[in-house]
Amino acid sequence: MSALLESYAAGRWFRAADEGQPLSDAATGEEVARVSSVGLDVAAMVRHARDTGGPALRSLTFHERAALLKALAKHLSAGKEELYALSVRTGATSRDTMIDVDGGIGTLFSYASKGVRELPNDTVVLDGALERLGKGGTFVGQHLYTSRPGVAVQINAFNFPVWGMLEKLAPALLAGLPTIVKPASQTAYLTELAVRQIIASGLLPEGALQLVAGGAGGLLDELTVQDSVAFTGSAHTAGILRRHPNVLDGGVRLGVEADSLNCSILGPDVRPDDPEFALFVKGVVTEMTVKAGQKCTAIRRVLVPGAMAGEVLDALAAALTDVTVGDPRNPDVRMGALASLGQRDEVRKAVEALTASAEVVFGDPEGGVLLDGDAERGAFMTPLVLRARPGAAEPHDVEPFGPVATVLAYDGVEEAVALAARGRGSLVASVATHDPGVARSVVLGLAPWHGRVLVLDRDDARESTGHGSPLPVLVHGGPGRAGGGEELGGVRGVLHHMQRTAVQASPDQLTAITDRWTTGAARAESGVHPFRKSLAELRVGDTIRSAARTVSLADIEHFAEFTGDTFYAHTDAAAAARNPLFGGIVAHGYLVVSLAAGLFVDPAPGPVLANFGVDGLRFLTPVKAGDSIDVTLTVKQITPRGGADYGEVRWDAVVGNQDGVPVATYDVLTLVAKSWPSTPAQEA
Ligand code: NDP
Repeated sequence: MSALLESYAAGRWFRAADEGQPLSDAATGEEVARVSSVGLDVAAMVRHARDTGGPALRSLTFHERAALLKALAKHLSAGKEELYALSVRTGATSRDTMIDVDGGIGTLFSYASKGVRELPNDTVVLDGALERLGKGGTFVGQHLYTSRPGVAVQINAFNFPVWGMLEKLAPALLAGLPTIVKPASQTAYLTELAVRQIIASGLLPEGALQLVAGGAGGLLDELTVQDSVAFTGSAHTAGILRRHPNVLDGGVRLGVEADSLNCSILGPDVRPDDPEFALFVKGVVTEMTVKAGQKCTAIRRVLVPGAMAGEVLDALAAALTDVTVGDPRNPDVRMGALASLGQRDEVRKAVEALTASAEVVFGDPEGGVLLDGDAERGAFMTPLVLRARPGAAEPHDVEPFGPVATVLAYDGVEEAVALAARGRGSLVASVATHDPGVARSVVLGLAPWHGRVLVLDRDDARESTGHGSPLPVLVHGGPGRAGGGEELGGVRGVLHHMQRTAVQASPDQLTAITDRWTTGAARAESGVHPFRKSLAELRVGDTIRSAARTVSLADIEHFAEFTGDTFYAHTDAAAAARNPLFGGIVAHGYLVVSLAAGLFVDPAPGPVLANFGVDGLRFLTPVKAGDSIDVTLTVKQITPRGGADYGEVRWDAVVGNQDGVPVATYDVLTLVAKSWPSTPAQEA
């Protein structure tokens, strides 16, 4: 008897007392492992996540959590041969495994990088601009996100045992939430191996990650208002979870990613010898055959102009004839097995249902030629193409979770969009077209029904990541039947796990709460120029008020000549006088900003190392010759960079005129040494 998979629960590996259910190799039918969660104390797991994992994660800043993700990604990369070797037992070819394993690791890397670049080195995220709520500026509002003191439960499908876990884990960890992973039993041995590698690395704080191998038991019964469940799988199970009392009445958040009848549309502009025709056919074939079509994003409906249906069917048949099917251990095999014999039965049943309104025009639902492998013990299935009859209903309703696609004819863009919408909401759609008008009509028609839309043409094909690849930086999820959930999408995926709160307070209180200087809050002015302070010495609110400087006509003329910006409003008095906004010569906005720098900069070598940008620059009032300007520069936010001997300082800059009216506002972004005087290396 093979080994029983273990759960990782409350700080130790747990083995069920019974023999468990056997899990079979998809291609050979041999037993790979057994799985059971009988006797697992899920209540203790939830407590452990809340009491141990959560506080440990939330004590770290986003940048520190991002560093954990990066270290984890490197660790898993180093051990990935072991994952590849086991993955073959799920029926996956090495190309399939690359999507699962390398795709999952890539998601960790992507979130590690987003976490550092787009989130603060803090535990709070500000959302949007400050809202002034009173005329005097003493009462303001700010939205902010904080981590929930709960647990993120993920319940995953069988098709991506590694990516499925990591794509949910990365945003949750970054959000400060401990996770309990419940993989689909069928392929849980691969998830278990990945979790073993992660736990053995010691990188994550204890309690940040736990694993349920086997049934979920009463896991949902233990969840409350601060907890969430992210589910991927069948619409049937999603329905069961949606009706759970803790979801219905208990405030547990449930995100669902379920069945999706994704479509790909051949644009009405495309002729058989256009590059888009070949790209379209290649896209459909790829989606039918990668992971043997067991992808939530695979193309199930192939929408083509009626007059092109014959050509498309011929091209699909020609390409699919070359797809070798068999045991994924054979390097000549392009498409491996379905995950199990049970799964193959499900797909065959779905094909039978589809034949109520469609004919099989390529392939054999009950057989087909294998390159190698045992057709009885292995869950093999060769690709199948169906052609729908006019008015067919089933292709919009039945999801064959395997290498199966149905070709449907449309007449005009409107009908293509209407047919796509009959899927009642999908994860992704694609359209092959080189006509911008078609692209706009189709994309705007499809967008309300889809989470992602790919426009494929000769210009983006070389770099395109394809119809079926969810990317960590783009949202993954779809409305309606696809579940209504949304995952990934860069920082959006992190914020989904956090609570947004509108805080109303005075500017001083808000500055204290957020550790970011808020317009209207007190400014601290000492005799020391803030440019002479290291990151360790600088404080939010530190301010320098500059002396004033008069802007002369000679300054404006000099700047115009020197830069070549001789726009009439700066150089032609008569023309400038007719400008309805200026009524005469005005200084260049960039002259004002340059002069402002000259006013606030402290020139001697010091802890300020570089100016790396300006954010939110607005010119509010024109500056005319003879006006005088000054600058108030205040430390708004201090962000130490982990692993570097400097950090970022964001300064609030207000340039005012002789009447105290702001003429320009912006944030100045600088890099400042953590300590000063400089080290010998910096001197060099
Ligand atoms: P299931 O919905 O049966 O299972 C998905 C996950 O839910 C598994 O981890 C499963 O655990 C778990 N689960 C099942 N019942 C419960 C329950 N009552 N409470 C808590 N968890 C539960 O889907 P499958 O993975 O078996 O796939 C079946 C079909 O789902 C596919 O044929 C396909 O049509 C669709 N699917 C859709 C995907 C998409 O994203 N659109 C992705 C994958 C599948 P266990 O395995 O232990 O039963």
